[in-house]
Amino acid sequence: MDRLRVPCTKELEFGGVLGAALLILLMPTTVFYLLLTCRTEQASLLNFFPALPMLRSLWDPQDFVLVVAWIALQALLYVLPMGKITEGITLRDKSRLQYRISGSYSLGVTALVVGASLAAGLRLSYVYDHFLQMAFSASLVAFGLSIFLYLKALLAPETALAPGGNSGNPIYDFFMGHELNPRIGTFDLKYFCELRPGLLGWALINMAMLVKETELRGNPSLAMILVNAFQLLYVVDAFWHEEAILTTMDITHDGFGFMLAFGDLTWVPFLYSLQAYFLVTHPQKLSLPMTGGIILLNGLGYTIFRGANSQKNTFRRNPADPKVAGLRTIPTATGRRLLVSGWWGFVRHPNYLGDLIMAFAWSLPCGLTHILPYFYVLYFAVLLIHREARDEHQCLRKYGLAWQEYCRRVPYRIFPYLY
Ligand code: NDP
Repeated sequence: MDRLRVPCTKELEFGGVLGAALLILLMPTTVFYLLLTCRTEQASLLNFFPALPMLRSLWDPQDFVLVVAWIALQALLYVLPMGKITEGITLRDKSRLQYRISGSYSLGVTALVVGASLAAGLRLSYVYDHFLQMAFSASLVAFGLSIFLYLKALLAPETALAPGGNSGNPIYDFFMGHELNPRIGTFDLKYFCELRPGLLGWALINMAMLVKETELRGNPSLAMILVNAFQLLYVVDAFWHEEAILTTMDITHDGFGFMLAFGDLTWVPFLYSLQAYFLVTHPQKLSLPMTGGIILLNGLGYTIFRGANSQKNTFRRNPADPKVAGLRTIPTATGRRLLVSGWWGFVRHPNYLGDLIMAFAWSLPCGLTHILPYFYVLYFAVLLIHREARDEHQCLRKYGLAWQEYCRRVPYRIFPYLY
């Protein structure tokens, strides 16, 4: 039994306890700083102290109910017996959890519900008018959920704890997530939050910004349409390839704590929609050549992102699949092989490269006069460079000499000839 216990986390990430404590404060502060700045005429990041609203004005019980109702709708769709059941990776105690793959159905039903509500006269621009209040409510839900998760983890068996969130320090474990796969019955809290309320919320918020812009100016701008279309493609793609999430670091390594709960429920929907939010108050004109260039750039990013992710997923599921059987590989002591040709022979994280190219294409419709709409691509570059280092560290531990050989044969991490 002792062998199954999750060892105490010794190597602390994100700057250890102090870093975790700072991030717990910094993440919500960043959300509100950026949203408040975006509303100002200059939308300048150098304006360090945008006019702060009274805390009282951020709390609106109706907005809180709306946010909770949205999460409840997604939870209801999640528990409905739609889609297939699949198994996650083998856990420490050799068991495998079952997951329902029904995100595409949830997306379809949500689109029908939203469409019907719009036809019945729903004023979606309400989301723009109450954006700060809704972000505040979502933050409260995320904090509440994180506290619940930490307390629940204290009662969980030791085998259920997360390898990365078992330091024994309450602040660090609260931030990183103490329990790996917290569930209530068969309801998997992390898996649910990773995709559904946040990603669909992001697409809905973007649509609300488009509706608001149409109300203000008579029709949506080309820039707004591009931002909506690109990001909707990204969201639909994530739902279409839902099963792939089961092998990501978030599901297999990180516990479910404040970092992911706040990220999923507040950071993603309210900050990833920053470009659309910006465009409502800072309209941009795009020339046709510029539009064509941006579409091509997004297409290039998507091709690399999807190609790389699909190639690795296919290979991990069935290395003999004809789509990947011809690729060169190196063996590892674990019995698994590493791809060294195809996308994974180009750089060591081609999927991050594609994701970053897309992120840049999403900011370009906002013009070149402000840095604020480029927040996403800048933050994302930092996130992915840090994530790549974490993954590299784990792969070196997992694959040892074979990983060193891979690094020798594919020397660049994300950007060819640069990094
Ligand atoms: P990856 O999909 O990049 O997976 C990394 C794992 O892939 C490694 O741990 C290793 O695991 C395996 N691997 C690495 N190199 C090779 C190789 N050469 N051959 C075969 N297998 C290899 O991890 P992420 O979860 O970080 O990313 C998934 C996607 O999600 C990416 O496209 C990323 O950009 C995106 N993402 C988006 C975010 C957002 O906010 N929009 C946030 C984070 C990620 P093993 O060997 O055990 O299979």
